[in-house]
Amino acid sequence: MIKIIDNLQGIITPRLDSANGDLLIQDSVAIAIENENIKKIGLAEDLHKEFPNAKMIDGKGCWAVPGFVDPHTHPVFYKTREDEFEMRILGKSYEEIAAAGGGIRNSVRVFREVSFDTLAELTYHRILKFLEYGTTTIEAKSGYGLSVEDEIKSLRVLKKVSALLPITIVPTFLGAHEVPDEYQNKRDKYVELIIKEMIPKVAEDNLAEFCDVFCEKNVFTVEESERILTAAKDYGMRPKLHADELHYTGGAELAAKVQAISADHLLMISDEGIAAMKSQGVIPVLLPGTAFYLGKQSYAPARKIIEAGLPVALATDFNPGSSVTQNMQIILTIAAIHMKMTPKEVIAGATLNSARAIAREKTIGSLEAGKKADIILLDIPNYKYLPYHYAINHVKMVFRHGQLVHQVMQ
Ligand SMILES: [Zn+2]
Repeated sequence: MIKIIDNLQGIITPRLDSANGDLLIQDSVAIAIENENIKKIGLAEDLHKEFPNAKMIDGKGCWAVPGFVDPHTHPVFYKTREDEFEMRILGKSYEEIAAAGGGIRNSVRVFREVSFDTLAELTYHRILKFLEYGTTTIEAKSGYGLSVEDEIKSLRVLKKVSALLPITIVPTFLGAHEVPDEYQNKRDKYVELIIKEMIPKVAEDNLAEFCDVFCEKNVFTVEESERILTAAKDYGMRPKLHADELHYTGGAELAAKVQAISADHLLMISDEGIAAMKSQGVIPVLLPGTAFYLGKQSYAPARKIIEAGLPVALATDFNPGSSVTQNMQIILTIAAIHMKMTPKEVIAGATLNSARAIAREKTIGSLEAGKKADIILLDIPNYKYLPYHYAINHVKMVFRHGQLVHQVMQ
């Protein structure tokens, strides 16, 4: 069964064979879809001749863009933390709130009380919001349980929601998100627990594709991170790393050393870290929504990283403390304004480059024949308009694996 999306303004897409940040912009083309995949992109009249029995879908004059790929999210939590938001407005820093028992450890305490079903219900509705804003794939991390049982609960919730929603969820084990309260005076034991119990159990139940660590001053050291990620690799989980976010620790260099798929945040990255990542093909994932939401003055050095030849990916970092949005579109605006990324670079960063950060660039992230038909239709006059007109939703239709899964009526 062939479907054709026609009456489009055209397509805007990065391509696997083109340079980093370059876009193909084609007017007046249509997209033929066969089952889950893009069959062909071409002039509408040619596709109509080639597939005379195809079902037509009216693109209503929109531009077709690849569905956004959000490669860094933390959606499995129980309570929201708007009280801490107010404390920050009144002058407390994120670190001060964490030291007073707030932050991630606050989320962990309440997470352990909530039932699987309640958590699954909350997570379902949160993840549905990604779809409404045009994101068709998310990477999603555990990391608010921090016990064997609760980390498994988190990953099982993702598995359940993944079966219910038309969005691709790529699971990452983040048992090393924080040292839980009961291990504060014996952190070595917690690292042991992750390596000896959590990682083998997650692998045995096939619950995560990647393993991530929050490598940061007062969280996990470079040495601890290396031990955890090396153990995860032995169990077939590819490393990711929260690296050089609040302080320089050498996280980017470690990401290169363990051949991580990505190193994320990178506000304090060194020149050596950039060179090391380049040499090992580690994808930089930048999360400017977090710096924005925490009211920081400085952002990751995106221009320097791009000029070194690395394909910069963008993500929301959706989580209840430091970045509370599922909207990739506003991240593009923040990346443009605060990191001086061009409209072309931010679109590539939220599609093909972010697919690279989860090893999906061969199947999603661009509009090309043979790839999954994960396509969003945007009501914008041209590509520069997407980050320009900000904090509203430009999405009119969302196709995931060839199926229309969300539509705005008007
Ligand atoms: Zn994160």
